Amino acid sequence: MRAEEMLRPRIKPEHGRYVTVDGNVRIGATVHGLGVEIEDPDGWVWVLIGALDGTRSPDEVLDVVLSDYPGVPAADAMQQLSDAGFLEDAGGPVPAELSKREQERYSRGVAFLRWIDQTARASSWDVQHRLRRSRVLLIGVGGVGGAVAQGLVASGVGQLHCVDSDTVELSNLNRQILFRESDIGKAKVDVAVTHLRELNSDVRVTSEQRRITGPADLAELLQSGYDLLALCADQPRSIRRWANRECLAAGLPWVVGGYHGPIVSGSLHGPGQGACWECLHDHEAEQAEMRLPPETTLESLAPRLPWHPVNVVSASLTGTLLTHFALAALTGAPPFEPGFRYEVNLVRLDASVSERITPRPECPVCGNAP
Ligand SMILES: [Zn+2]
Repeated sequence: MRAEEMLRPRIKPEHGRYVTVDGNVRIGATVHGLGVEIEDPDGWVWVLIGALDGTRSPDEVLDVVLSDYPGVPAADAMQQLSDAGFLEDAGGPVPAELSKREQERYSRGVAFLRWIDQTARASSWDVQHRLRRSRVLLIGVGGVGGAVAQGLVASGVGQLHCVDSDTVELSNLNRQILFRESDIGKAKVDVAVTHLRELNSDVRVTSEQRRITGPADLAELLQSGYDLLALCADQPRSIRRWANRECLAAGLPWVVGGYHGPIVSGSLHGPGQGACWECLHDHEAEQAEMRLPPETTLESLAPRLPWHPVNVVSASLTGTLLTHFALAALTGAPPFEPGFRYEVNLVRLDASVSERITPRPECPVCGNAP
C-alpha cells in the first residue's frame, strides 16, 4: 500500500508516540516487538507524525512538514511508516460484505488486530474481511477444540466445520465449557453447532459426527476446500502424522496442540514454509536427552490412565494458543512464519519456550528422504 494512495493517512491510534529525553521519536514503543525509535535531530519527523492524524490528504501532510523543513525526505519517511504497519487510511472504506451489525460486533477485535498488524493495507477492516472469507476445518470439539471453535466463531471466521465422534459426558464438564449439564448424552457436534450459532449467527457453522480412522478420512474431508485445519483431537494416536502428510499434500496450513499434564503446547505449520510437524517432533525427541532404554519412545511413556489429567486451564489455554495461531495464519496479523512450536509450562512459567528449527533434510514428509 502506497501511502500517497491513501485518502487520509494517520498513525494507528493504538500506537503511543512521544519524543525521548534525548530527542528521538518513538512510536508504539509500549509494546515490545512492535515499536520503533527514529532519530530526529531537526524535529521534522515529529511534525510529520503530528500531521498524520487522519484529517489531511498525503499532499497536505507533506505540505505541513515541507513548509517548515524544505527539502527533507518526508514522503520517504511517510512511506516507511506505512511499510512498517504504523499507518492506516482514516478514509479507507469498510468492505461492503461487512454489515453494520458485524462492524459493531468486531469493532474491538479490529482495533486489536490493527494494533498488532504490521502489513500496510487499504483498510483496517481488510483483516476482518479476510477472516470472514476463511473456511476452517476443526477436528475435535472437546476442551481444546471447543475453545478454538468459540474463539474463531466469536472472532468472525466465515465458516467453521466441526468434526467429532463423541457424546458429552459429565466428566467433560470440568473444562469443556462449550457444553452444559443438559447436553450430557448428546452428540458433541450437535451441541457445539447449536451453541456456536447462538454465539454468532453471522458465521456459517456446520458439523458431522464422524470418527477419523485413517489418512483417507482426512483427505476426504480436506477435499471440501478449507483455508486451515485446526487439529484438536489426539486420537487415533497417529492422527497428527496423518494430518501433517495430508495438509502438506493439500497445500493447507494447520494448527495443532495439546497438553501433557501441565505442559501446554501449540504449533503452526504451513506447506513449504519451515519445519513440518514431524520435523519438529523428531527433533524434540532427539533433543530431549531422556536416556531412554532401547525400544522405548517418548510416546510410550505417556501415562496410560483410565482417567484424563486435564483441567480448564490446560485445555482452554491450548485452545486459545491455537486460536491465536489460526487467526494469524488466516489474516497475517501478526505475520507469523509457520514451522514453530510454542510451549507453556504451567508449573514453571519461566520455562516456557518457543522453538523453531530449519526443516530436516532427512524428514520423511517434507525433506529430501527417498
Ligand atoms: Zn518435515
